[in-house]
Amino acid sequence: ADKTGTMLYLDGVSVSFDGFKAINKLSIIVHPAEMLAIIGPNGAGKTTMMDIITGKTRPDDGQVLFDGRTDLTKLDEAAIANLGIGRKFQKPTVFESQTVWDNIEMALKKPRGVFSALFYVADQADIDRITEILETIRLLPRKDELAADLSHGQKQWLEIGMLLAQDPKLLLVDEPVAGMTDSETVETAKLLREIAKTRSVVVVEHDMSFVRELGSRVTCLAEGAVLAEGTLDQVSANPVVIERYLGR
Ligand code: ADP
Repeated sequence: ADKTGTMLYLDGVSVSFDGFKAINKLSIIVHPAEMLAIIGPNGAGKTTMMDIITGKTRPDDGQVLFDGRTDLTKLDEAAIANLGIGRKFQKPTVFESQTVWDNIEMALKKPRGVFSALFYVADQADIDRITEILETIRLLPRKDELAADLSHGQKQWLEIGMLLAQDPKLLLVDEPVAGMTDSETVETAKLLREIAKTRSVVVVEHDMSFVRELGSRVTCLAEGAVLAEGTLDQVSANPVVIERYLGR
């Protein structure tokens, strides 16, 4: 495949744990400002793939190219995060005793170092940016409330906002709607679609109705490799997918 202009390019990536191939010659492409949903049965290698992208797990083989030039397999986790790759884990980790606004403000200041996080006063550009992020994550009306008082779904949005404050080029999101209400799930698909207008987003997800709402390209993994790719309709009509996954 042509790697020019790609945001993320996994090329023949493999990793084994104690001789077991968790990822087996996996190749995946994500373009700039594109969303990709990753589906697949338990043990398919979805988490391991995310761990490889973020540098938590080092592959035995293959290349992970970021933004068409940087090989991530040579870098550690901190360096990869600094390049502009944000990862949202399944459980929200927000500062419960701080307001919604302050959670975003702290995330914005964090890359500037501990000293500025403590002493730096937000200027108008920061205030505009925080406001814009809170609008994106639907929490501007609740900006002065404590994070502890948000619903589970809203905490997930707040954490997405904290990642946006770091201005990632690529956002990795692990099962964001687990435990959300139906209306929060629909709203999450909308806000991720908005984010993906300017950033690349990879979503690992089990909930097929949510994947349908995302409306993105879908890759189905099985046994550490790509089983099928395309629209959700194309992937779910694939006989191999039906047999191995959806038909169970
Ligand atoms: P998924 O996220 O799609 O459910 P995982 O990436 O968690 O799949 O796991 C893929 C396979 O690799 C599974 O069989 C799992 O047991 C195995 N695996 C994942 N991480 C490790 C590890 N650190 N040590 C040993 N086996 C692992």
